[in-house]
Amino acid sequence: MIIKRLAVIGVGLIGGSFALALRQAGAVERVVGIGRSRANLEDALSLGICDEISQDALQGVQGADMVFISVPVCSIPAVLAEIAPALAPGCIVTDGGSVKTAIVRECQALMPPGCHFVGGHPIAGTEYSGAAASFATLYRGKRCILTPTDSTDPDALETVARLWRCCGAEVCSMEPGHHDRIFAEISHLPHAVAYALVHAVGSADAEGENVLSFSAGGFKDFTRIASSDPVMWRDIALMNREALLNSIDGFSASLAELRRRIDGRDQPGLTEFFTIAKQFRDGIV
Ligand code: NAP
Repeated sequence: MIIKRLAVIGVGLIGGSFALALRQAGAVERVVGIGRSRANLEDALSLGICDEISQDALQGVQGADMVFISVPVCSIPAVLAEIAPALAPGCIVTDGGSVKTAIVRECQALMPPGCHFVGGHPIAGTEYSGAAASFATLYRGKRCILTPTDSTDPDALETVARLWRCCGAEVCSMEPGHHDRIFAEISHLPHAVAYALVHAVGSADAEGENVLSFSAGGFKDFTRIASSDPVMWRDIALMNREALLNSIDGFSASLAELRRRIDGRDQPGLTEFFTIAKQFRDGIV
């Protein structure tokens, strides 16, 4: 048993799966689920994710030795500002947000003396949301990135790392800015491109034909992530704005180069372009 009382704020896919995995591992004694809608919290209770629920975050976190915040990224600092006065001495607050620089900077500044913040991001997910989407094995065999800074408490960092290992995750650490640049490329850009592609194809004028009704394996595989929650992705795009803009610029240049080779009927150029991309893709383990 590592944690006596865990408060999960935002009992959706990420928070619910964290609680379920820790309960299954016997790492937590009691879980309180905190959120805004009664219906989602009641789902969480009936699915065995938590022992008690609260729509009042200030009251819900009382007596917790660990708080996990898993709401859309722009709301994470606001949620912490709300609960900070109620945190018990020694309480560790961590999060599952997909962007780290702004969250770590703002959350560290909001922590009351004697309480500790550790930034985190599990590299696992699906396109589904809410308590009903969560499952205990979500993190098994997946990475979880922690983003400590010079002022992070080493014991708090180790406790958070132990919890993620209990969930079956492989834990690694990196600097928040480095995290945000990597995930702008490998996660935030693909989501932006998937949304933009579906947007373009869905609104394409094809002589009155509903083009999407012809979608098959390739289109569905490529665009699965465009079914993800719009508010979550709005927040990620805004909070990792600069890094994502850089990634979009890099992608736009690549698309422009591809267009140039198609326009120029550049047979060897196109073969080379696709071959290099295939080699990169085939190299992913
Ligand atoms: P989710 O399934 O939609 O869950 C978020 C939960 O937060 C909802 O149950 C929502 O319930 C609650 N919520 C939203 N705003 C809130 C607020 N202001 N105060 C209190 N509760 C609030 O989303 P998720 O996929 O678990 O994502 C949660 C976090 O994990 C995000 O920061 C995201 O960036 C990160 N993340 C997601 C993935 C992924 O693939 N989905 C992967 C890694 C990290 P109510 O509306 O009832 O309050």
